Amino acid sequence: MQWEQLTAPDFARAVQDTGVCILALGVLERHSDHLPLGTDMLNAHKLACLAAEREPAVVFPQFCFGQIYEARCFPGALTLKPTLLLELLQGVMDEIGRNGFKKIILLNGHGGNNNLLGFLAQCSLWEHKPYTIYLFKDSFTPEQQARWKAALESPLHGHACECETSVTLASYPDLVKMDAVPAEPAVPLNRAQDVPGAFSGISWYANYPEHYAGDARTASAEKGRKLLAIEVEALTSFITAVKTDKVLPALEDEFFGRVDEVRGKGNEQ
Ligand SMILES: [Zn+2]
Repeated sequence: MQWEQLTAPDFARAVQDTGVCILALGVLERHSDHLPLGTDMLNAHKLACLAAEREPAVVFPQFCFGQIYEARCFPGALTLKPTLLLELLQGVMDEIGRNGFKKIILLNGHGGNNNLLGFLAQCSLWEHKPYTIYLFKDSFTPEQQARWKAALESPLHGHACECETSVTLASYPDLVKMDAVPAEPAVPLNRAQDVPGAFSGISWYANYPEHYAGDARTASAEKGRKLLAIEVEALTSFITAVKTDKVLPALEDEFFGRVDEVRGKGNEQ
């Protein structure tokens, strides 16, 4: 169910019936020359909608605000001041919670969001919220991993690559310009190796200055349908597990009970 397509009474019923909202997070950024700026946002939202058809949940509208400072050197990137971005994400989750959802699944459609969303999940221990956050980490079974690998030809992946281009071809064929796929694959340039082991904001750009990583020449809609089916399977199982989970909310209650105890002891002194 898509939040924006429901009437108010139907929405209230969906909150009661499912208790789970999926926030699919993408960004607006360059995807080489052949994929649209909103690739991550479009694909993540689509994946959420397909999985929510199998295991009912409410899907938040398409969301394009995330960490993508490394694309500020290209047209069409949308970036927000770091503190505003955190406040925005927290505010959106609080609104989802205020509408009655007790569980929020964060579905990340963009690798550059990994650290941000991990931190956001950790922020749930700053104060006791009326909802629990479940960040979906791609958790394919070995069988799904094998099927994923078998569907592909290229060993190079990362960004606007064979898999991402294929999935986009499957869902949004009119938005992909296969004739604009670069003639050569994009391998990491390793331009930031002088301090081995260092992670820097410029690290990804150092490897992939054209926002292309991999080889999209062998992408196809048929491959994309296979990959998307695996992703839908994995996310559907995750929604089921989240719905039935009682452990994380109970642990949060236990944790914040102890936080209150600490505060209480402090006040007595
Ligand atoms: Zn992408």
